[in-house]
Amino acid sequence: MANDYYSALGVRRDAPPDEIKKAYRRLARELHPDVNPDPQTQERFKEITQAYEVLSDPGKRQMYDQGVDPFAPNGGAGAGGFGPGFPFSDIMDAFFGAGAAGRGPRSRARRGRNATIRIELDLSECAFGATRELTVDTAVVCPTCSGEGTAPGTHPETCQICAGRGEISQVRKSFLGQVVTTQACPNCGGYGTVLPRPCPECDGDGRVRTRRTMKVRIPAGVEDGTHIQLAGEGETGPGGGPPGDLFLEVVQKPHAIFERQGDDLHCTLTIPMVAAALGATVSVESLDGPNDVDVRPGTQSGQVLPLYGLGVKHLNGSGRGDLIIHVAVETPTRLDAEQEKLLRELAKLRGEESPPGKFQPGQQGFFSRLRDAFNGR
Ligand SMILES: [Zn+2]
Ligand SMILES: [Zn+2]
Repeated sequence: MANDYYSALGVRRDAPPDEIKKAYRRLARELHPDVNPDPQTQERFKEITQAYEVLSDPGKRQMYDQGVDPFAPNGGAGAGGFGPGFPFSDIMDAFFGAGAAGRGPRSRARRGRNATIRIELDLSECAFGATRELTVDTAVVCPTCSGEGTAPGTHPETCQICAGRGEISQVRKSFLGQVVTTQACPNCGGYGTVLPRPCPECDGDGRVRTRRTMKVRIPAGVEDGTHIQLAGEGETGPGGGPPGDLFLEVVQKPHAIFERQGDDLHCTLTIPMVAAALGATVSVESLDGPNDVDVRPGTQSGQVLPLYGLGVKHLNGSGRGDLIIHVAVETPTRLDAEQEKLLRELAKLRGEESPPGKFQPGQQGFFSRLRDAFNGR
């Protein structure tokens, strides 16, 4: 047999009608073209609908169980199969009732759209939060008609064509039996009412475009790409519908000194070779201002000095990230004669004066470090 209707619905061959109905309902909700318009799903929807048509009809089911497929070409009932014009919504309406597909008079009031605006913040504002004044182009309830869309003194009237139902039904005979097709009323656009005189200010839309200024508080800890939802701050919906939401998308401006990784900040501190060798106290800039940092004697290039709690505040939480200082030891260049002499003496004192090439890779001698630093390693 061409089609296995039982497995299409995922039911046993002896499934009672109730179970078949349930199985179809469940699949149809999931696969209906209104929900899922991709072609493969539509194909599957046709399959299950065809299966249901056969298995829900005791006569057709009996035929099918005896090996005759009512839908197969020349296969008995000669129904002709499912052509491209197969009335999906007719079946759905017959099955779920006309209301299931969202029919009936539509409300003129609909929810407004969401809007997204990008705000540029510097690192400090991201770290500690900020208050910003924003100017947004949006739509608000029309002050003339209060959202109703009608000229002052007039009101929406019931549509004469559909008698307020918002849809027009037609009874047709088809191979499935008698089916009722419904479509949105062309006279009222499905609203069930018409506006005898649309409001002159909003042209019946119930809202007007405007520019609005608002103050927003941006919490500490936001980062590049964070979306802040301001519920109900989007544009008002048509027909006086509720407003959508406004989203602020954070764009964090790059910082000259600090690189952000999560809530930690990283920066590089370059210190002269001698300071690294002898130790020093260095003033390091942070988001909170300058900090005195002790560089211990013998500090190497690449060593990190963490300043705990001087990073970015955690979003929606307590505490802060850290500021991580990466030390870079600067090798002196352009030595004058006296400086070079001093360094050679130092090398001699430390037993590090060797002809070039004697140091092996990985050896932590003075000159190898010098060479590494020189080569940028
Ligand atoms: Zn108006
Ligand atoms: Zn109508």
